[in-house]
Amino acid sequence: MKTINHWIGGKPVEGTSGRFGPVFNPATGAQEKQIAFATVDEVDAAVAHAKAAFESWGTASLAKRTAFLFKYRELLDAHRDEIAALITAEHGKVHSDALGEVARGMEIVELACAIPEKLKGELSTQVSTRVDVASIRQPLGVVAGITPFNFPAMVPMWMFPLAIACGNTFVLKPSEKDPSASYLLAELASQAGLPDGVLNIVQGDKVAVDRLLEHPDVAAVSFVGSTPIAKYIQLKAVEHGKRVQALGGAKNHMLVLPDADLDFAADQAINAAYGSAGERCMAVSVVVAVGDTGDELVGKIAERAKGLKIGPGTDPSSEMGPLITREHRDKVASYVTSAAEQGAEVVVDGTGLRVEDHEDGFFLGVSLLDRVPVTADAYRDEIFGPVLCVVRADTYDDAIKLINSSRWGNGTAIFTRDGGAARRFQLEVQAGMVGVNVPIPVPVGYHSFGGWKDSLFGDHHIYGNDGIAFYTQGKVITTRWPDPSDGGINLGFPSHS
Ligand code: NAD
Repeated sequence: MKTINHWIGGKPVEGTSGRFGPVFNPATGAQEKQIAFATVDEVDAAVAHAKAAFESWGTASLAKRTAFLFKYRELLDAHRDEIAALITAEHGKVHSDALGEVARGMEIVELACAIPEKLKGELSTQVSTRVDVASIRQPLGVVAGITPFNFPAMVPMWMFPLAIACGNTFVLKPSEKDPSASYLLAELASQAGLPDGVLNIVQGDKVAVDRLLEHPDVAAVSFVGSTPIAKYIQLKAVEHGKRVQALGGAKNHMLVLPDADLDFAADQAINAAYGSAGERCMAVSVVVAVGDTGDELVGKIAERAKGLKIGPGTDPSSEMGPLITREHRDKVASYVTSAAEQGAEVVVDGTGLRVEDHEDGFFLGVSLLDRVPVTADAYRDEIFGPVLCVVRADTYDDAIKLINSSRWGNGTAIFTRDGGAARRFQLEVQAGMVGVNVPIPVPVGYHSFGGWKDSLFGDHHIYGNDGIAFYTQGKVITTRWPDPSDGGINLGFPSHS
């Protein structure tokens, strides 16, 4: 069986812990690979390589850094299909969706190519007589990234290209469930000329994560994953004196007003709820139907849901693939059962789906639950699967109150033809990313991505200008080239003249 190892100092390094995790093909349910879990010593070796590489990478010219980034973008472009195939093989999402993930990750490499423009400092001349002030931003040193299973290429690319462009060196701990795509990203970075040790990968579990959080030579940590782990990462990283951004889970609401185009809204609800089997942190998991829209909208969503083609991600006719593991599939299915017991109407029940010739795959059909009580587990928890809840609200005010009472605040969307209502929603809703007739408002690479409340712990959103701010620290330099007349003793606090 193939073992996925670490990538340290620009080359593969075999794990020595004797501890391994399984990597499944979710479409067949078969374990096809295993992943070596890092020891503390292996994490230390990766950090040591990153620290040594920082000596020269941290001061490498912008020309040298961007030469690498442009070359890297070319290589990624040439290997899109290969990266997407690895994602499909280990995550299960359909190939076209995996290609979309690669493209969205490459946006950050493209942003990173513009780093000379982005890192231009500020200069004020003659703030006082013969005194100038310059503000510059410098890299932090060794940065760590810890990433989730659901975007095995894109989320690592939200982090390391920008961190490296800013002059840092990086240690990535990818999800142990689907690590091969990010491993290929590191190999391609090497081929593009990235010096050894600038980008390292340690495979692993809590042992590796905890060591990265405690390591004195790790200056900052970027994390994306579930809310309980995000909270833990933030607290532990702060305890060890590190800068941290920890993006957590979500429960994204899509508000549909009575004046919306309901066919368009139903199409978008289907795409956003069931794409990638609902395993997206920006998936729509709750539709809030306002006024008398509910019956017609639920009918339209149900009609579409029943026609979806579910099958292996390698089959071009599949629109949705399997879930990540058998346990996760069963847990997601249990929410459909519990919702029925807790008062919801099960309009479409996908729990009985069997996919021909793939009976052992981790497939689950799509489910649609209507009139879900806000006390039901299916409403209260992040399900992270192909289950869409519909909640009815009498008025816009009731709907916004419901959305704003959620503990999460990642993405949200409003569907309407009324510009005034949309404008009110933008200003009133408590979430980090808002769509107007756009169900999954993931910002483009040159804006930043992040949620509010339990969806993000830390002060910075990820990528875009916030990403650059996160991966650099400010320095302000006040300069004087004195004239002979500038001397003299004055014990007062410096003031300007
Ligand atoms: P997860 O929190 O289980 O795992 C994320 C990472 O943390 C993995 O690398 C994992 O190995 C590590 N980890 C897990 N348990 C740990 C522990 N006890 N101690 C230390 N490290 C640990 O998340 P997941 O299941 O891989 O991903 C799905 C979750 O990620 C969902 O909640 C989803 O909403 C969230 N997510 C959020 C965003 C966002 O941008 N806000 C994006 C993608 C995914």
